[in-house]
Amino acid sequence: MAKKEVKIEYNKGWDLAPAPESTSHIKLKKKYDLFIGGKWVKPSSGKYFDTINPANEEVLAKIAEADAKDVDKAVKAARKAYDTVWSKLSGKERGKYIYRIARIMQEQARELAVIESLDGGKAIRESRDIDVPLAANHFFYYAGWADKLEFAFPNREVKSLGVAGQITPWNFPLLMVAWKIAPALACGNTVVLKPAETTPLTALKLAEICQQAGLPDGVVNIVTGAGATGAEIVNHNDIDKIAFTGSTGVGKIIQKAVAGTNKKVTLELGGKAANIIFEDAPLDQAVEGVINGIFFNQGHVCCAGSRLFVQESVYEKVMRKLKDRMESLIVGDPLDKNTDIGAINSKEQLNTIKKYIKIGKEEGAEMYQPKCAIPKKGYFCKPTLFYNVAQSNRITQEEIFGPVLAIQTFRTVSEVISKANNTPYGLSAGVWTDKGSKIFNMTSQLRAGIVWANTYNKFDPASPFGGYKESGFGREGGMHGLSAYLNLDS
Ligand code: NAP
Ligand code: MG
Repeated sequence: MAKKEVKIEYNKGWDLAPAPESTSHIKLKKKYDLFIGGKWVKPSSGKYFDTINPANEEVLAKIAEADAKDVDKAVKAARKAYDTVWSKLSGKERGKYIYRIARIMQEQARELAVIESLDGGKAIRESRDIDVPLAANHFFYYAGWADKLEFAFPNREVKSLGVAGQITPWNFPLLMVAWKIAPALACGNTVVLKPAETTPLTALKLAEICQQAGLPDGVVNIVTGAGATGAEIVNHNDIDKIAFTGSTGVGKIIQKAVAGTNKKVTLELGGKAANIIFEDAPLDQAVEGVINGIFFNQGHVCCAGSRLFVQESVYEKVMRKLKDRMESLIVGDPLDKNTDIGAINSKEQLNTIKKYIKIGKEEGAEMYQPKCAIPKKGYFCKPTLFYNVAQSNRITQEEIFGPVLAIQTFRTVSEVISKANNTPYGLSAGVWTDKGSKIFNMTSQLRAGIVWANTYNKFDPASPFGGYKESGFGREGGMHGLSAYLNLDS
């Protein structure tokens, strides 16, 4: 007997009272200097730039702009700390500091989450439940490895690299900083880190946490600025390793810049992930996974499931469920606990997303957006579906980095594998099916660093993360993440 379909009633049309998270407990300075050698240092140029709240365009703080002189000062401080203190400490002692940082992050979790949402626009639900706990967990996890490196790499001599130059993007500001700093310190390196221009605040709060943890001066240095500051780090000749997370375009520039030098490099770059729904999948669960995969965090996720492949026999059903669920999404104030989709990170990014929506229409795809209202002030974008898209369309091939989903259908396993692999990227993918054998077949043939099965966007510090093809190379997280910060040649 055919099963009767149970229709899920979402909260469409309910008038939810505003539930804003309080900002009364957060402490922000009006102006932030550079964090070099354990002190707050004025930028040599005397220049500062604004960091704004993308949900209302108000200025949150003034941020120092580091130039070549400042970067040099930070590298010297990191080198001194490496030579005189950090490389001499035992793994057990390093672990204690890293553990202390994790504990303080947990204690200040609410403040960090609110600042993350204010500075970057992401919904408080995401920063509170995902970004900040995961960032603290990375420090806990790598604290545990600091005195066990020889067990991670048995029969090999384990040596730290020296000074690591680290550059992070704006989509997971604190989490990306944690991914970079925690393994570097655990392995005995010191760091000079540049956060993204539009979201520097939680990295600067982490500098305060390093001070509170009593971390020796110069072990962590934070230099703020735009792309030019990042380039000064990449090109500095006393840096041993570059760890970069960001766009493929900048990743290529960095790879060229370090070619022929002794710098080790890891690049975590863009993505265009395929989320694949088979006819035997639990469809409601799959639809929820698709929504989570592309619309939460405004689609500002390198591994966002931005392409959806649905098996033809369930296409109509999935489309109906997807549209139904989208009508219930709340776009608005990032600090409101009911908000599903917060603000787009910057005006530039909103313009990029709008440009791609226009391209999608011009390419002849059909578009669907829910009827939800969006705030007039600030940078917001409705969740958007494109269907009847072609494999060659730009919206199917290029990373949009916004809440825009391109949907295609397929009939056979081999067809969907060849379509899913047909992009320059290879970061992640998702498979929704009832059959374990199908999952194993798919994971072995999809050219993606991460494949989720019957779930999406799940992260764990113990699990390595990284891409194939133009999504970069090297792995962050897990035991694999240690080798990026060690010399294991001997
Ligand atoms: P981006 O423009 O490449 O910037 C990343 C970082 O590099 C920022 O701090 C940026 O500074 C800096 N930068 C810019 N030009 C530079 C240069 N010539 N030399 C050195 N540094 C430079 O990327 P984004 O727009 O911030 O982030 C979005 C991208 O990151 C997406 O493509 C996404 O897929 C990718 N991403 C990948 C992963 C992963 O793990 N694979 C994770 C998250 C994000 P400013 O921002 O201050 O200009
Ligand atoms: Mg900002």
